Amino acid sequence: MKSIGVLLTCPMSNYLQEQLSKRFTLFKFWQIPPNSKHEFLNQNSSSIHAVVGNGIHGANSELIDSLPNLEIIASHSSGLDKIDLPKCREKGIRVTYTPDALTEEVADLAILLTLATLRRICAADRFVRTGLWKNSDFQLSNKFSGKSIGIIGLGRIGSAIAKRAEGFGCSIGYHSRSRKPHSKYTYYPSVIDLASNSQILIVACALTDETRHIVDRDVIDALGADGVVVNIGRGDHIDEPELISALVEGRLRGAGLDVFEHEPEVPEILLDLDNVVLSPHVGACTMETRKAMADLVVDNLEAHISNKPLLTPVI
Ligand code: NAP
Repeated sequence: MKSIGVLLTCPMSNYLQEQLSKRFTLFKFWQIPPNSKHEFLNQNSSSIHAVVGNGIHGANSELIDSLPNLEIIASHSSGLDKIDLPKCREKGIRVTYTPDALTEEVADLAILLTLATLRRICAADRFVRTGLWKNSDFQLSNKFSGKSIGIIGLGRIGSAIAKRAEGFGCSIGYHSRSRKPHSKYTYYPSVIDLASNSQILIVACALTDETRHIVDRDVIDALGADGVVVNIGRGDHIDEPELISALVEGRLRGAGLDVFEHEPEVPEILLDLDNVVLSPHVGACTMETRKAMADLVVDNLEAHISNKPLLTPVI
Protein backbone atom coordinates (compact mmCIF):
# COMPACT_ATOMS: atom_id res chain seq x y z
CA MET A 1 0.00 0.00 0.00
CA LYS A 2 3.05 2.29 0.17
CA SER A 3 2.43 3.22 -3.46
CA ILE A 4 -0.77 4.98 -2.34
CA GLY A 5 -0.19 8.63 -1.54
CA VAL A 6 -2.33 10.14 1.23
CA LEU A 7 -2.54 13.91 1.68
CA LEU A 8 -3.13 14.97 5.28
CA THR A 9 -4.54 18.52 5.20
CA CYS A 10 -3.60 19.65 8.73
CA PRO A 11 -1.82 18.34 11.85
CA MET A 12 -3.74 15.55 13.55
CA SER A 13 -2.84 13.13 16.32
CA ASN A 14 0.59 11.50 16.29
CA TYR A 15 -1.23 8.18 16.45
CA LEU A 16 -3.13 8.86 13.21
CA GLN A 17 0.01 10.11 11.48
CA GLU A 18 1.91 6.98 12.56
CA GLN A 19 -0.86 4.66 11.40
CA LEU A 20 -1.06 6.41 8.02
CA SER A 21 2.74 6.50 7.59
CA LYS A 22 3.01 2.77 8.30
CA ARG A 23 0.67 1.95 5.42
CA PHE A 24 0.86 4.77 2.89
CA THR A 25 3.14 7.49 1.58
CA LEU A 26 2.03 10.40 3.71
CA PHE A 27 2.17 14.00 2.49
CA LYS A 28 1.73 16.65 5.20
CA PHE A 29 0.07 19.50 3.33
CA TRP A 30 0.27 22.07 6.14
CA GLN A 31 4.05 21.76 6.17
CA ILE A 32 4.28 23.07 2.59
CA PRO A 33 4.64 26.88 2.65
CA PRO A 34 1.67 28.63 1.01
CA ASN A 35 3.75 29.90 -1.91
CA SER A 36 5.06 26.37 -2.66
CA LYS A 37 1.75 24.50 -2.55
CA HIS A 38 1.19 24.89 -6.29
CA GLU A 39 4.65 23.47 -7.10
CA PHE A 40 4.16 20.65 -4.56
CA LEU A 41 0.88 19.65 -6.21
CA ASN A 42 2.47 19.78 -9.68
CA GLN A 43 5.14 17.35 -8.52
CA ASN A 44 3.06 14.98 -6.37
CA SER A 45 -0.58 15.21 -7.37
CA SER A 46 -0.54 12.09 -9.56
CA SER A 47 0.54 9.86 -6.65
CA ILE A 48 -2.09 11.19 -4.24
CA HIS A 49 -5.13 8.88 -4.16
CA ALA A 50 -6.62 9.89 -0.82
CA VAL A 51 -7.12 13.02 1.27
CA VAL A 52 -7.54 12.96 5.04
CA GLY A 53 -9.03 16.19 6.40
CA ASN A 54 -11.00 17.29 9.42
CA GLY A 55 -13.91 19.56 10.31
CA ILE A 56 -11.83 22.70 9.77
CA HIS A 57 -9.44 21.77 6.96
CA GLY A 58 -11.38 19.61 4.53
CA ALA A 59 -11.23 19.40 0.75
CA ASN A 60 -12.60 22.27 -1.30
CA SER A 61 -13.27 22.32 -5.01
CA GLU A 62 -9.81 23.74 -5.80
CA LEU A 63 -7.96 20.99 -3.92
CA ILE A 64 -10.13 18.25 -5.42
CA ASP A 65 -9.56 19.59 -8.94
CA SER A 66 -5.81 19.69 -8.38
CA LEU A 67 -5.64 15.94 -7.60
CA PRO A 68 -6.40 14.02 -10.83
CA ASN A 69 -6.13 10.56 -9.23
CA LEU A 70 -8.07 11.32 -6.06
CA GLU A 71 -10.35 8.39 -5.20
CA ILE A 72 -11.38 8.96 -1.60
CA ILE A 73 -11.65 11.66 1.06
CA ALA A 74 -11.62 10.16 4.56
CA SER A 75 -12.67 12.89 6.96
CA HIS A 76 -11.51 12.78 10.58
CA SER A 77 -14.75 14.51 11.59
CA SER A 78 -18.50 14.02 11.57
CA GLY A 79 -19.20 17.44 10.01
CA LEU A 80 -19.10 17.49 6.23
CA ASP A 81 -19.38 21.22 5.64
CA LYS A 82 -15.70 21.60 4.66
CA ILE A 83 -15.89 19.01 1.86
CA ASP A 84 -17.27 19.92 -1.57
CA LEU A 85 -19.73 17.01 -1.70
CA PRO A 86 -21.37 17.95 -5.04
CA LYS A 87 -17.91 18.01 -6.65
CA CYS A 88 -17.11 14.57 -5.16
CA ARG A 89 -20.38 13.16 -6.54
CA GLU A 90 -19.68 14.66 -9.94
CA LYS A 91 -16.18 13.12 -10.04
CA GLY A 92 -17.07 9.77 -8.45
CA ILE A 93 -14.85 10.40 -5.41
CA ARG A 94 -15.80 8.38 -2.33
CA VAL A 95 -16.22 10.20 1.00
CA THR A 96 -16.15 8.78 4.54
CA TYR A 97 -16.45 10.42 7.96
CA THR A 98 -16.35 9.48 11.64
CA PRO A 99 -19.85 9.69 13.10
CA ASP A 100 -20.78 7.66 16.21
CA ALA A 101 -17.13 7.50 17.35
CA LEU A 102 -17.50 11.00 18.82
CA THR A 103 -21.21 11.26 19.63
CA GLU A 104 -20.94 10.63 23.39
CA GLU A 105 -17.98 12.97 23.84
CA VAL A 106 -19.63 15.90 22.08
CA ALA A 107 -22.89 15.36 23.98
CA ASP A 108 -20.89 15.33 27.24
CA LEU A 109 -19.32 18.66 26.29
CA ALA A 110 -22.74 20.16 25.47
CA ILE A 111 -23.96 19.31 28.97
CA LEU A 112 -20.68 20.48 30.48
CA LEU A 113 -20.92 23.87 28.71
CA THR A 114 -24.57 24.21 29.75
CA LEU A 115 -23.79 23.49 33.40
CA ALA A 116 -20.65 25.62 33.37
CA THR A 117 -22.54 28.58 31.88
CA LEU A 118 -25.51 28.35 34.24
CA ARG A 119 -23.42 27.72 37.36
CA ARG A 120 -20.75 30.25 36.20
CA ILE A 121 -18.06 27.74 37.01
CA CYS A 122 -15.19 29.51 35.20
CA ALA A 123 -15.97 32.79 37.00
CA ALA A 124 -16.21 30.84 40.27
CA ASP A 125 -12.79 29.27 39.64
CA ARG A 126 -11.28 32.73 38.98
CA PHE A 127 -12.99 34.02 42.14
CA VAL A 128 -11.19 31.45 44.29
CA ARG A 129 -7.82 31.72 42.50
CA THR A 130 -7.65 35.51 42.69
CA GLY A 131 -8.46 35.55 46.40
CA LEU A 132 -11.73 37.48 45.98
CA TRP A 133 -13.50 34.89 48.16
CA LYS A 134 -11.68 36.25 51.20
CA ASN A 135 -13.54 39.56 50.94
CA SER A 136 -16.93 38.76 49.40
CA ASP A 137 -19.45 36.08 48.47
CA PHE A 138 -19.69 34.74 44.93
CA GLN A 139 -22.71 35.97 42.97
CA LEU A 140 -25.65 33.56 42.75
CA SER A 141 -25.84 31.43 39.61
CA ASN A 142 -28.67 29.52 37.90
CA LYS A 143 -30.02 26.02 38.23
CA PHE A 144 -29.83 23.48 35.37
CA SER A 145 -31.92 20.57 36.68
CA GLY A 146 -35.54 20.76 35.54
CA LYS A 147 -35.03 23.44 32.86
CA SER A 148 -36.61 23.23 29.40
CA ILE A 149 -34.06 22.39 26.73
CA GLY A 150 -34.49 23.10 23.02
CA ILE A 151 -32.21 21.10 20.75
CA ILE A 152 -31.65 22.17 17.15
CA GLY A 153 -30.88 18.93 15.28
CA LEU A 154 -32.04 15.73 16.94
CA GLY A 155 -29.44 13.61 15.15
CA ARG A 156 -26.81 11.40 16.77
CA ILE A 157 -25.33 14.11 19.00
CA GLY A 158 -28.65 15.89 19.60
CA SER A 159 -30.25 12.63 20.76
CA ALA A 160 -27.31 11.88 23.07
CA ILE A 161 -27.67 15.38 24.57
CA ALA A 162 -31.40 14.81 25.10
CA LYS A 163 -30.73 11.50 26.86
CA ARG A 164 -28.30 13.20 29.24
CA ALA A 165 -30.61 16.17 29.87
CA GLU A 166 -33.42 13.76 30.79
CA GLY A 167 -31.20 12.56 33.63
CA PHE A 168 -31.31 16.13 34.97
CA GLY A 169 -35.11 16.14 34.89
CA CYS A 170 -35.22 18.56 31.96
CA SER A 171 -38.11 18.75 29.50
CA ILE A 172 -36.96 18.45 25.92
CA GLY A 173 -38.10 20.00 22.66
CA TYR A 174 -36.35 19.84 19.30
CA HIS A 175 -36.26 21.22 15.79
CA SER A 176 -35.03 19.13 12.87
CA ARG A 177 -35.95 18.95 9.19
CA SER A 178 -38.46 16.28 10.10
CA ARG A 179 -40.39 15.09 13.13
CA LYS A 180 -38.90 11.89 14.57
CA PRO A 181 -41.87 9.50 14.68
CA HIS A 182 -40.49 7.44 17.56
CA SER A 183 -39.32 10.36 19.68
CA LYS A 184 -41.10 11.24 22.90
CA TYR A 185 -39.74 14.80 22.79
CA THR A 186 -41.79 17.78 21.59
CA TYR A 187 -41.23 18.68 17.94
CA TYR A 188 -41.24 22.31 16.78
CA PRO A 189 -41.34 22.87 13.02
CA SER A 190 -39.98 26.39 13.60
CA VAL A 191 -36.78 27.34 15.46
CA ILE A 192 -38.49 30.49 16.78
CA ASP A 193 -41.22 28.39 18.40
CA LEU A 194 -38.60 26.04 19.84
CA ALA A 195 -36.70 29.01 21.31
CA SER A 196 -39.91 30.59 22.71
CA ASN A 197 -40.63 27.37 24.58
CA SER A 198 -37.07 26.75 25.86
CA GLN A 199 -34.84 28.15 28.58
CA ILE A 200 -31.69 26.66 27.07
CA LEU A 201 -31.11 26.35 23.33
CA ILE A 202 -28.47 23.84 22.20
CA VAL A 203 -27.26 23.82 18.60
CA ALA A 204 -26.39 20.31 17.37
CA CYS A 205 -27.38 20.25 13.70
CA ALA A 206 -25.27 19.85 10.56
CA LEU A 207 -24.01 23.04 8.91
CA THR A 208 -25.62 23.56 5.52
CA ASP A 209 -26.81 26.58 3.53
CA GLU A 210 -30.17 26.25 5.34
CA THR A 211 -28.71 26.11 8.86
CA ARG A 212 -26.16 28.94 8.48
CA HIS A 213 -27.21 31.55 11.09
CA ILE A 214 -30.10 29.35 12.19
CA VAL A 215 -29.70 31.21 15.49
CA ASP A 216 -30.23 34.86 14.55
CA ARG A 217 -31.54 37.92 16.37
CA ASP A 218 -35.18 36.76 16.16
CA VAL A 219 -34.33 33.36 17.67
CA ILE A 220 -32.26 34.96 20.43
CA ASP A 221 -35.08 37.38 21.25
CA ALA A 222 -37.57 34.48 21.27
CA LEU A 223 -35.37 32.65 23.78
CA GLY A 224 -35.39 35.77 25.94
CA ALA A 225 -33.24 37.54 28.51
CA ASP A 226 -33.13 34.55 30.89
CA GLY A 227 -32.08 32.18 28.11
CA VAL A 228 -28.78 30.46 27.48
CA VAL A 229 -27.38 29.39 24.09
CA VAL A 230 -24.95 26.49 23.76
CA ASN A 231 -23.23 25.72 20.47
CA ILE A 232 -21.36 22.49 19.82
CA GLY A 233 -22.31 22.40 16.12
CA ARG A 234 -20.42 24.88 13.94
CA GLY A 235 -19.64 28.57 14.49
CA ASP A 236 -21.61 29.58 11.40
CA HIS A 237 -24.83 28.28 12.95
CA ILE A 238 -25.00 31.45 15.04
CA ASP A 239 -24.99 35.05 13.89
CA GLU A 240 -22.03 35.86 16.16
CA PRO A 241 -22.34 39.70 16.19
CA GLU A 242 -26.03 39.33 17.12
CA LEU A 243 -25.17 36.87 19.88
CA ILE A 244 -22.55 39.25 21.26
CA SER A 245 -24.95 42.22 21.19
CA ALA A 246 -27.57 40.19 23.06
CA LEU A 247 -25.02 39.10 25.70
CA VAL A 248 -23.69 42.64 26.16
CA GLU A 249 -27.14 44.27 26.24
CA GLY A 250 -28.55 41.73 28.70
CA ARG A 251 -31.02 40.30 26.17
CA LEU A 252 -29.48 36.85 26.79
CA ARG A 253 -28.23 35.45 30.09
CA GLY A 254 -25.26 33.49 28.82
CA ALA A 255 -23.62 31.31 26.19
CA GLY A 256 -21.46 28.20 26.15
CA LEU A 257 -19.50 28.04 22.90
CA ASP A 258 -17.19 25.36 21.55
CA VAL A 259 -17.24 26.68 17.98
CA PHE A 260 -16.87 30.13 16.42
CA GLU A 261 -17.50 31.79 13.09
CA HIS A 262 -13.82 32.52 12.32
CA GLU A 263 -11.91 29.87 14.28
CA PRO A 264 -9.38 30.10 15.80
CA GLU A 265 -10.15 33.82 15.94
CA VAL A 266 -12.58 34.65 18.73
CA PRO A 267 -14.02 38.19 18.97
CA GLU A 268 -12.13 40.16 21.64
CA ILE A 269 -15.36 41.23 23.29
CA LEU A 270 -16.36 37.63 24.03
CA LEU A 271 -13.09 37.15 25.91
CA ASP A 272 -14.06 39.93 28.33
CA LEU A 273 -17.59 38.69 29.05
CA ASP A 274 -18.19 36.90 32.33
CA ASN A 275 -21.44 35.28 31.18
CA VAL A 276 -19.82 33.06 28.54
CA VAL A 277 -17.86 29.82 28.72
CA LEU A 278 -15.55 29.22 25.78
CA SER A 279 -13.75 26.11 24.56
CA PRO A 280 -11.50 25.74 21.50
CA HIS A 281 -13.55 23.33 19.32
CA VAL A 282 -12.72 20.36 21.52
CA GLY A 283 -16.02 18.47 21.39
CA ALA A 284 -14.35 15.26 20.25
CA CYS A 285 -10.90 15.91 21.74
CA THR A 286 -10.36 13.14 24.22
CA MET A 287 -7.60 10.57 23.83
CA GLU A 288 -10.11 7.73 23.67
CA THR A 289 -12.27 9.32 20.98
CA ARG A 290 -9.38 10.63 18.89
CA LYS A 291 -7.97 7.07 18.72
CA ALA A 292 -11.35 5.63 17.72
CA MET A 293 -11.72 8.31 15.02
CA ALA A 294 -8.19 7.68 13.73
CA ASP A 295 -8.81 3.93 13.56
CA LEU A 296 -12.02 4.56 11.61
CA VAL A 297 -10.21 6.80 9.10
CA VAL A 298 -7.56 4.11 8.53
CA ASP A 299 -10.11 1.29 8.35
CA ASN A 300 -12.11 3.20 5.75
CA LEU A 301 -8.99 3.78 3.63
CA GLU A 302 -7.99 0.13 3.88
CA ALA A 303 -11.51 -1.01 2.99
CA HIS A 304 -11.50 1.24 -0.08
CA ILE A 305 -8.12 -0.02 -1.25
CA SER A 306 -9.13 -3.66 -0.74
CA ASN A 307 -12.41 -3.09 -2.62
CA LYS A 308 -14.41 -3.86 0.51
CA PRO A 309 -17.51 -1.93 1.62
CA LEU A 310 -16.66 1.35 3.36
CA LEU A 311 -17.42 1.36 7.08
CA THR A 312 -18.97 4.84 7.26
CA PRO A 313 -19.67 6.00 3.72
CA VAL A 314 -21.15 9.38 2.86
CA ILE A 315 -20.69 8.90 -0.91
P1 NAP B 1 -26.33 13.81 12.39
O1 NAP B 1 -26.60 12.57 13.13
O2 NAP B 1 -26.22 13.72 10.91
O3 NAP B 1 -27.47 14.87 12.79
C1 NAP B 1 -27.57 16.08 12.11
C2 NAP B 1 -28.86 16.75 12.53
O4 NAP B 1 -28.93 18.01 11.82
C3 NAP B 1 -30.13 15.99 12.16
O5 NAP B 1 -30.98 15.98 13.27
C4 NAP B 1 -30.74 16.82 11.04
O6 NAP B 1 -32.14 16.80 11.00
C5 NAP B 1 -30.26 18.20 11.44
N1 NAP B 1 -30.40 19.11 10.31
C6 NAP B 1 -29.84 19.03 9.08
N2 NAP B 1 -30.29 20.02 8.30
C7 NAP B 1 -31.16 20.73 9.07
C8 NAP B 1 -31.98 21.86 8.84
N3 NAP B 1 -31.98 22.46 7.63
N4 NAP B 1 -32.73 22.33 9.85
C9 NAP B 1 -32.73 21.72 11.06
N5 NAP B 1 -32.00 20.64 11.34
C10 NAP B 1 -31.22 20.14 10.35
O7 NAP B 1 -24.97 14.49 12.85
P2 NAP B 1 -24.29 14.44 14.31
O8 NAP B 1 -23.29 13.34 14.36
O9 NAP B 1 -25.33 14.53 15.34
O10 NAP B 1 -23.43 15.80 14.26
C11 NAP B 1 -24.08 17.07 14.15
C12 NAP B 1 -23.06 18.15 13.90
O11 NAP B 1 -22.27 18.35 15.07
C13 NAP B 1 -22.02 17.83 12.82
O12 NAP B 1 -22.53 18.10 11.52
C14 NAP B 1 -20.87 18.72 13.18
O13 NAP B 1 -20.95 19.94 12.48
C15 NAP B 1 -21.05 18.99 14.66
N6 NAP B 1 -19.94 18.41 15.44
C16 NAP B 1 -19.22 19.23 16.26
C17 NAP B 1 -18.18 18.71 17.01
C18 NAP B 1 -17.37 19.58 17.94
O14 NAP B 1 -16.22 19.25 18.20
N7 NAP B 1 -17.92 20.66 18.45
C19 NAP B 1 -17.83 17.36 16.91
C20 NAP B 1 -18.59 16.56 16.07
C21 NAP B 1 -19.65 17.08 15.34
P3 NAP B 1 -32.98 15.58 10.35
O15 NAP B 1 -32.76 14.45 11.30
O16 NAP B 1 -34.39 16.04 10.34
O17 NAP B 1 -32.38 15.35 9.02
